[in-house]
Amino acid sequence: MPLRPPPWGRHASIEDGMKSINAWAKQEGYAIVRHRNKMDKRTPPQVRKVLVHCDCAGVYTPANRKKKTRSKKCDCPMKACFTRDLQLGDWFFEVEVSGHNHHPFDPDEGTPAVHRDLDEDTIRTIYN
Ligand SMILES: [Zn+2]
Repeated sequence: MPLRPPPWGRHASIEDGMKSINAWAKQEGYAIVRHRNKMDKRTPPQVRKVLVHCDCAGVYTPANRKKKTRSKKCDCPMKACFTRDLQLGDWFFEVEVSGHNHHPFDPDEGTPAVHRDLDEDTIRTIYN
């Protein structure tokens, strides 16, 4: 089963956006986490872009193990970003690399941390 990327979308805030794309990702069997913020050169600087990637991005290190997380770092290339439109104030979600290099999460192995605060209503709203 291919892991479909979240659709292009417009969101009022990063929090809304993350919730929305993770509700999608959860159905597909993966999770998306924030990677880093990109600031602009204004004074004071504002966040213009938030880079996000698959929970499996990065390389597994013993440091991760100590935290007892269930994340399986396998250098997954999937990545996307939220770009803020300063005039509208909204965040536009866009996928940069859609492919994953792993299988969906096995539900028997537990829920990724990032999905634990998603309730069924949120998922239903996004899917219907
Ligand atoms: Zn992935």
